[in-house]
Amino acid sequence: MKKNLLFTPGPTPIPPEALLAMAQPIDYHRSNATAALIKDVLEKLKHVFQTENDVLFLTSSGTGAMEGAVSNLLSRGEKAIVIRSGKFGERWGEICATYGIEVIPIDVTWGNSVEPDIVASALAEHTDVKAVFATLCETSTGVLHDIEALARLTRIRPTLLVVDAVSALGADDLQMDNWGVDVVVSCSQKGLMTPPGLAFAAVNQRAWDAVERSDLPKYYLDFRKAYESGLEGSVPYTPAVTLLTALQQALNRICAEGIQHTIDRHNRLALATRSAIKALGLPLFAASPANTLTSIRLPEGIDGKALINLMRDTYGITYAGGQSQLSGKIVRIAHLGWMNENDVIVAISAFERGLVEIGHAIPLGAGVSAAQEIFTQ
Ligand code: PMP
Repeated sequence: MKKNLLFTPGPTPIPPEALLAMAQPIDYHRSNATAALIKDVLEKLKHVFQTENDVLFLTSSGTGAMEGAVSNLLSRGEKAIVIRSGKFGERWGEICATYGIEVIPIDVTWGNSVEPDIVASALAEHTDVKAVFATLCETSTGVLHDIEALARLTRIRPTLLVVDAVSALGADDLQMDNWGVDVVVSCSQKGLMTPPGLAFAAVNQRAWDAVERSDLPKYYLDFRKAYESGLEGSVPYTPAVTLLTALQQALNRICAEGIQHTIDRHNRLALATRSAIKALGLPLFAASPANTLTSIRLPEGIDGKALINLMRDTYGITYAGGQSQLSGKIVRIAHLGWMNENDVIVAISAFERGLVEIGHAIPLGAGVSAAQEIFTQ
């Protein structure tokens, strides 16, 4: 009997109470109950974003909040530094280019995180840069960027720091207020354990000042409209009410655990996964790996696509493969959202079996054993 299990960096598994909430009859989005729901969700999101700033939401995937960040913060003729260390950093650059923003790219070899010194030099050279666009966890490579170090550079200048925490929110630490990050964007289907379809942005006062001045075109993704309605428990357009009910349940879980403990749990799952992969004799792809997911470089001759297809089609176990230039070369195992230690043991034991069946000899059980060592410490 096949049993489907997701170890992908979004969508992630959804807890039962969130699934059940979505089975309830739908409410009108202008009802008092929906207003209370929206207010409750936005309040709880502040805890997850580690901010006192109000959070706004959009009915879109994470990319909607990314596009909104560009079109709401910047103005015609402005420049932005874009850190490109994978597919999602590249996306920041593509969105900026779409809106006619001059992009100053900082290209980082895939698998590495950006050197803050390089960003410091770029800021010193281009003093008129309006914003730096960065990524907390570059999901395509599994790398974690040092956002705290980047914020140290930007918070002493007028330049804004805008962070894509689409995959890593709730898994890797991001102290928006303490570190001085200006804008953080994320979405529902990753650490927030909810189906795809909701995007979020937390915006500080410096960034709101830029929003006031911004003259780039925007309509559906207008942050000010979303923000002002959200404060009233309202929305400018029909929202994904059903997803909000699921999100409320998922946020109850995170708030009950506490964001710091949630991040610590992800850290433990990531440590065990990395230890398991090393015990199997395979190299990690990311030089500074995130808590969100672990990317594994496959040995020459092992076809990552075949491994992933075998595991999904035969055993119902879904890992993510490599994107673009990494296609077939890496496997990405997420330990994100509604995940605990036993889930990691399943992910690793299935991976061991997959490697053997695809023709790569490894000591069966070595990965599981290494993970158990971490968990029993
Ligand atoms: N940024 C990062 C870091 C991501 O992981 C993703 C989704 N994998 C996105 C942006 C895009 O999000 P979405 O697919 O929800 O638009």
